[in-house]
Amino acid sequence: MKLYEYQGKRIFAEYGIEVPAGEVATSPEEAGRIASRLGEVVLKAQVLTGGRGKAGGVRFASSPEEAERVAAELFAMELGGERVTELLVEQRLKIRREIYAGVTIDRALGKPVVMVSGEGGVDIEEVAERSPEKIFSRHVDPFVGFYPYMARELASRLSLEREAFIGVAEVLLKLYRIFTEKDAQLVEVNPLAVTDGGVVAADAKVIVDEDALFRQDFGQRSRGMPYVRLEGSIGCVVNGAGLAMATMDTLKHLGGEPANFLDIGGGAGEEVMREALLKVASHPGVRVIFVNILGGITRCDEIARGILAASRSVDVPLVVRFRGTNEEEGVRLLREAGIEVERDMIEAARMAVEMSRRQRDEHSCR
Ligand code: GDP
Ligand code: MN
Repeated sequence: MKLYEYQGKRIFAEYGIEVPAGEVATSPEEAGRIASRLGEVVLKAQVLTGGRGKAGGVRFASSPEEAERVAAELFAMELGGERVTELLVEQRLKIRREIYAGVTIDRALGKPVVMVSGEGGVDIEEVAERSPEKIFSRHVDPFVGFYPYMARELASRLSLEREAFIGVAEVLLKLYRIFTEKDAQLVEVNPLAVTDGGVVAADAKVIVDEDALFRQDFGQRSRGMPYVRLEGSIGCVVNGAGLAMATMDTLKHLGGEPANFLDIGGGAGEEVMREALLKVASHPGVRVIFVNILGGITRCDEIARGILAASRSVDVPLVVRFRGTNEEEGVRLLREAGIEVERDMIEAARMAVEMSRRQRDEHSCR
């Protein structure tokens, strides 16, 4: 599971890696307000695809008004098929040099590898391809660990001034700790910015092992609701952690692959349901959305209204299953709009799995 830049930076900060001052905005006005506190800012689209810099997803602004205007443009964008719903607004850094630093698994050797390069920034892929000798790496025996002298040996290859050299070595040690303690598959900073005030992580890319989620909490949330992003093709809107797990298990058992799930919790109204659908639909892998709701405090008619409000902006098919409070009214509202409600959970899951297959086949024929 990939984390958003701002989630990655929270982890960095927790481990003492310096990150720029900043906050997440969900509207242009909010971006403007944050900018009025920070001065010159960089506005960064929070999407999971890389190469945002080159695609226009990283912009600068020198006044709150400009920040608001630029933010509005960013919110209208789609990057790598993902709608931009959140921006990271940060104090702009004066970058003297862009370093690349990362830790990942070398699968061939079955060992973590720590990597660093003096040629960081948006062209790192090109560096890796054309001049791999400019990327320095060191494999780590997980039972021995990664020690300060190893970090210094790596950092010494970059011909940095003393202070930056010490700063980079410290960041490498912290990245390795994050890598092991957070069950990561990749922890990457590009660029690690050398500034007059020290070494600062200007970006964060963290991929964590999904199988370790039971013992990790990355604060995966969307507008306060638990949101977990996976790699399959069925988007899921559910209520309650237990139903979320049962839904995942049922889909997998029937041969489907969830793309994500969002847990709207108890008592969600129309607006929460609408936002939840939009969020789940924003994942580029989603081919069908499975809404699976148990109506207790949550009312099925409210759920139906939320679905109707979102359906105009959601262009993938829906499978809706709900039972419980105000179920009949919910069914009636949706039927008027041509959406049938399936009441049996297994049957609904089977429909979602079939539709995800059919959508995929259509896709691959194009
Ligand atoms: P990516 O393209 O998705 O990896 O997004 P990054 O966060 O790496 O940003 C792309 C580029 O924008 C970086 O390589 C920097 O050159 C530039 N950048 C990002 N933040 C700042 C900043 O605070 N100040 C300056 N001067 N440049 C920045
Ligand atoms: Mn980057």
